[in-house]
This record gives sequence, structure tokens and C-alpha cells, in this order.
Amino acid sequence: MSLDFLGSLERTNLCGELRAEHAGRHVTLMGWVNRRRDHGNLIFLDLRDRSGIAQIVLDKELIPDGHAKGEHVRPEYVVAAVGKVRLRDKDAINPKMPTGEIEIEATELRVLNDARLSPFSPAEEAIQNEETRLKYRYIDLRRAEMQRNFRLRHEITRAIRESLSGQGFLEIETPVLTKSTPEGARDFLVPSRMHPGEFYALPQSPQIFKQILMISGFDRYFQIARCFRDEDQRADRQLEFTQVDLEMSFAKQESVFAVVEQFMVAAFAASGIALPAPFPKMTYDEAIRQFGSDKPDLRLPGLTNMRAAFSDEALATLQIDPALPVVAFRIPNVGELSRKEREENHPIFDATKGAKFIDDFKRLAKSFPEAASKVRELARAAEADFVIIVAGDPAHHIKASDTKFPGRLSEREINVYAAAGNFRSELAKKYADKHKAFETTEKIVAEADPRSGKLADAAAAFHPLWIVDFPMFEYHLAGGNWVPAHHPFTAPHEADMANLVSDPASVRANCYDLAMNGLELGSGSIRIHRKDVQQQIFASLGIGDQEARARFGFFLDALEYGTPPHGGIALGLDRIVMLLAGAPNMREVVAFPKTAKAIDLMADAPTTVGDQQLRELHIRVAAKS
Ligand code: ASP
Repeated sequence: MSLDFLGSLERTNLCGELRAEHAGRHVTLMGWVNRRRDHGNLIFLDLRDRSGIAQIVLDKELIPDGHAKGEHVRPEYVVAAVGKVRLRDKDAINPKMPTGEIEIEATELRVLNDARLSPFSPAEEAIQNEETRLKYRYIDLRRAEMQRNFRLRHEITRAIRESLSGQGFLEIETPVLTKSTPEGARDFLVPSRMHPGEFYALPQSPQIFKQILMISGFDRYFQIARCFRDEDQRADRQLEFTQVDLEMSFAKQESVFAVVEQFMVAAFAASGIALPAPFPKMTYDEAIRQFGSDKPDLRLPGLTNMRAAFSDEALATLQIDPALPVVAFRIPNVGELSRKEREENHPIFDATKGAKFIDDFKRLAKSFPEAASKVRELARAAEADFVIIVAGDPAHHIKASDTKFPGRLSEREINVYAAAGNFRSELAKKYADKHKAFETTEKIVAEADPRSGKLADAAAAFHPLWIVDFPMFEYHLAGGNWVPAHHPFTAPHEADMANLVSDPASVRANCYDLAMNGLELGSGSIRIHRKDVQQQIFASLGIGDQEARARFGFFLDALEYGTPPHGGIALGLDRIVMLLAGAPNMREVVAFPKTAKAIDLMADAPTTVGDQQLRELHIRVAAKS
């Protein structure tokens, strides 16, 4: 069919905004044909734009020409409709559509573009094949759900920007072509044409630059910053992702918390949800003891200490290490599981942590009836709750430090708790339909509407938690040495400084994480602002003077020119949006994401490049090994 020009036509309204009160108004709408229904003399087009859908009526008697075009129009054609808003007949009202009380009696239809038959229709609600969605991302993004996610992302980002600007932060961009930043992942490297054999690294974070901005006297910096990390992809991880990155001078932990709480409250409000602040705090050791995780999900019961349920003989018979934690957790309402069902769960348990578990209560009750009932009592388990005991396994003694400081956990203990914590969160995901603990969150997210002027109460649905007092170093099982638990610019607690070299395990880091509903939303720290301390930390990490100079020389120099005490944090914007969109996967809130195999299916990246380009970059590609 021949296509029409836009000509001087101007759009007057968005499709989704028309209501009964607009009846009688002359409008011009433009958009995509969502659905088309041919009733002979009447053709109905559901016209869609980003605001919603309006029904266009093409009446053969009124506009024979428009009706004739309507016969050839197909889904996803781009059209302009001129006409009058009118009330629908009573029996034609569609209460499910926001515009369901009206329709447009068209006086003119222009077909602005045709469209090939789409591999799927944006009008369908659930489209299963994710590969097809990603390959035809431009069509996928037309779907109402995706439009909603990106509008939300925009509103959240805007709220954060405004909040931080209001709190005196300056948005400053830092380079993307730069030098390696140590955030614990692999770098992406970019070969330099002008400097043969040399490479830029894409930033894993703006860490060093933001600290330099403090040295430069900017006092409060922020950036909605793209970061790049070459690591394996997960549901909440992409090769490139966006951080709300900030740094402030003369700051204490509490100053950073107050800033973050303010912008998080603003971000939630932008999604129609009231987030209570200030957020509670928990030490790392406490989080590990209570949840076996430094990003605990507080919507389900935590771990309970079960040492009191077992006699020494019972532990010996059960081959449980009496010196290590014995804990249990319950997943509510799972009901009784068959042996086969339990066995299917076994691969989920992380067997590398020197721990084992007991999930067969019938068997336990046969040999140790008292212990079995005591465990359920201590865990406050109801009849239908699934209870699992996790304890140290002497048969799988792992290489870990036993070093213990008063009131603190040893590495080996942490491993047992972590095994329990991982198992707990994986089973919680698996049995979400049974315990229903996540439903409140899903419901609030689905129903919250920032335009309603009312904020939904998030107290039962979102549980922000500051985790503080992390250890400065962790024991590296494979290497048998102490490695930094954070990036090397994190300051130790002033009180622990004296032990840096003699007792690394005892040193606490002045750093903090923000966790929410089982996700780590961000982490930050008070930084080292003195060159002598920075050098000491490098030394304790086994980074020699020469290496430190080669990697961070510019930064060590900068530290000597009047560095204020400073600290900051970075929060994952994509994760915040994921939470507020109720999205199970980061790909739902990133416009053009990569697959689990790190491929951009739409653009077809990565790809090989031509010889000429490689020559210019002084690169020769080795044969695949
Ligand atoms: N640069 C750190 C990160 O990306 C955050 C921070 O310490 O501010 O995790």
C-alpha cells in the first residue's frame, strides 16, 4: 500500500491520556497499531503510544478512504488518526482499559509506515523466549511492562539526581578510557592506536578519580556512572552497569548514611513507596551469625543457634564438629518433602565451606528424639515448616583461619554460617510459592503508583540494612594468605591500626554495605587519606613499592598534596530499579543488555574486526587455543 506523509499534521494528545471528560474534543493521535478488528463497515484500531492505548473507529460511511486504508493496516504499522473523542455505547465500555470509556471517531487516517510481521506482538503480555526478545529488543521495549520499567528507571534516576544536587553534591564526569581500578574484577582493556602496545582500561568504578576530586576541593561529588567489570554474568550482574557513585570530604560513616538514606527515600517516593529511614545497622559478624550472609533478606526467619539441642554424644555420633556453630533455619509452610524432593535440593548446598546439613527429621527423630524436637522448638517451627540443620563437618576440614578475637567470629565459623545462609536463601527462592514471604513486596511494587499522590507503606516489604564493621582482610583459602576484603583505599578502624601487620585478622575496616531484601545494593568506606597509611596497606597486601608506583603512582602523589579525610559509597542503580520494578533479572531494567553468555544479541557483539583495524591498533590475534 502507498504510504502517507506526515505533512503538517501535529499530534495533539497521547493515546493513553484520553478520558470521558475529553468527549467532543478534536484530536490527532499517532502511534503503532496494537490490534485491529475488522467488523465489515467498521474497523477498530487499537492505537498505542508510550502512554497507553486508544480505540480508533474507521467508519466506512464517514471516511470511506480511511476505512479502505484500514483494511490493509496490520499490527505495528505506524499511523496518525485525526478525529473526535466520543463516549462509547454502554455495552462497549471496557473497564480494563484506562481509556475504555471513549473512542475516536476518525475523520482521517494517515499510514505513516508499514511494518514487517513481528516475531512476537508487543500486545502479548508474557513472551517466553528471551533470546527472541533480546534479538528484537526494539519490539520488546514497546511492551507496556518494559515501557513502565524504563519510565520508572528515569523517575528513580531523576529523584536521586535531584536529591543529591539538593544536598550540595556536584555531578562530575570521570574518564571511561583510563587506568585500571582495583575492584576485584578483570579489566576491559582498550588498545591504543597512538601508543603501540599500550592499553587503556575501562573503569571498574570511578574510585580513584572521585578521591582525587576530594583532593581537588570539590567537597561533594556524585555521578550516575557507568562501570565495566569483566566477570561472569548473573541475574543481578551485567558487564557494564550503572552506579550512583558519590564521595564527600570530612565525612564520617554517619554522614554518608544520612546522604544515602535521603536519596533512597526520594527514589522510593518516585516509585510511589514510602521507605522508612534511618535504616537499621548491623555488624558484619552479627549478620553472619543471624543470617549467614552480609546481604540478608529479613523477610524470612534467620538462623537459630542449636548447640543447646545436642548433647556432646549426639554431636559425636552425628559427626558434627563441636567447636563450630550448629545452626538451623526454617522455610515456612513448605510441608513435608519426599526423599527425592530433598535430594534434589542437595546440589544447592555449598559443600566447599567445611559444613554439612541434616534435612531428614524423621531419621534424626529416630535416633535423637529429644534433639529433634528441641531443634524444632528452638527454631519456633510450625508443623508445616521445613527445618534444616547446618553444622561443621570434621570430615571436610577446610583450610581456613581459626584466629579468634573476643566477641568476633573466626573465618572457619563464618564459613559454616555462610553455608547455612546460602542454603537458606536458595531454598527461600525455590519455595517462594509456599512461604509467600515475598508476596507483600511483589504486591506493593505492582500496585504502587507515584501519580496517585499517596505513598504505599514499605515497612513490611523492603528491609534496608547497613552492614558495618567488616573485617579488613579475609583469609584466602586457595592461596593460604590474607587478602583485602575491599578495595585497597578502605581505611581501617583507627582503633585497630596498630595491629595492621602483627594481627591482620583482627583489623576491622571502616566500610559499610547497604543490603536490601537479599541484594547488596552498594558498598563504600571511609578512605585512607594519609600516604603513610596507604603505603602500609599496600605493603600488608603484598603490593610492593614498585608495583604501587606503577599502578597508583599518580594517586600516591596526589595524596601528598593536602588530602582531606573523605569517604563515600556507590550504589547499583540497576539493582535499585530491579527491586522497585519487581524485576527478577537486571536485563528487564537495562535497555540493551547482554545475555548470560555476555553477548549483545541485537547488535551482535562481540565480533571479529578487520585486519586493517587490527593493524592500526598494533594487534595480532593469536589462534584460538
Ligand atoms: N568503588 C566502590 C565500588 O565500586 C564503591 C566505593 O567504595 O565507593 O564498589
